[in-house]
Amino acid sequence: MLDAMASAPLGDDVLGDEPTVRALEERVADLLGKEAAVFVPSGTMANLTALLSQTRPGDEVIAEPGAHVLNYETAGYAGVAGLAFRPAPATSGRMEPRAIAGLVRSSDPHFARSRLVLVENTNNAAGGVFWLEPELKAVAEAAHEAGLRVHLDGARLWNACAATGSSPARFARHADTVSVCFSKGLGCPAGSAVAGDAETMHAARRYRKMLGGAMRQSGVLAAAALHALDHHVDRLTEDHARAQKLAEMIESAEGLTLRPADRRTNMVYFDVDPALGSAGAFCKRVDDRVRMLAAGPTTVRAVLHLHVDDDALDRVAAALRS
Ligand SMILES: *Cc1c(COP(=O)(O)O)cnc(C)c1O
Repeated sequence: MLDAMASAPLGDDVLGDEPTVRALEERVADLLGKEAAVFVPSGTMANLTALLSQTRPGDEVIAEPGAHVLNYETAGYAGVAGLAFRPAPATSGRMEPRAIAGLVRSSDPHFARSRLVLVENTNNAAGGVFWLEPELKAVAEAAHEAGLRVHLDGARLWNACAATGSSPARFARHADTVSVCFSKGLGCPAGSAVAGDAETMHAARRYRKMLGGAMRQSGVLAAAALHALDHHVDRLTEDHARAQKLAEMIESAEGLTLRPADRRTNMVYFDVDPALGSAGAFCKRVDDRVRMLAAGPTTVRAVLHLHVDDDALDRVAAALRS
């Protein structure tokens, strides 16, 4: 990846002549079956530019309450885009398609304007679990029938594809806009993309500039993403297999309670018996051997990725036992 970054042809993406960024944007649009894509620094900005491009302040977004956009993006949907949020019932992050119509507001002037349905695949907070393509299709169809747009937060769409065998485009065709990350599981230092129709992506490009996300010789980052698409996508199934192994280790570890995940990909959530201390204290105690995230007072999140091989997993097991 470093070699690819060091040898990438560079230009200036603010001036629109960055050859490596352009190549990446074309590649991503193609992969997702969309007219255009825009390279952005982060998944947060990918989601925010997608929302800004398809809504007006005061509009309402239908989403399940655990969505990353609602919980872990500094409420930019509200603070920057001026959007309200209407919670949709969901199981393991997957919404019930039949519930969508009932959540859409009438045009009565008392109400916000329903504008967009947000879905997340894989769903982070529910345990990194994936939707099947027909499930996503059903929710998107319900949204489109009601005249709403659909945004797919696909920060980990690659993992959903690895788990289901569906192509990125098969999921993406149900959404008007899609965000994908090259960081996270694909192992890039930074970089995400948002994709959609040409008109929406023209707007997204303007919002990227407004938010300060237009970069100059960003081909160094796009080269990393191109390398990751070539070399780090097919191996994601290894992460999933190791996550399954880790889940089994945790299930048999005294004092740790595995959070069940019906369709696990590369994440393992578990709870720490308070007698062993808080989740934060627990993570600190093993931090010299394995770094995990305290996702709540008792909850720990472990994520498998390309820097964790089988040997590393053995060391994780030893650290957990100790
Ligand atoms: C990480 C993540 C994001 C945000 O990505 P950043 O690059 O950290 O801004 C968005 N959505 C989901 C589901 C994520 O897991």
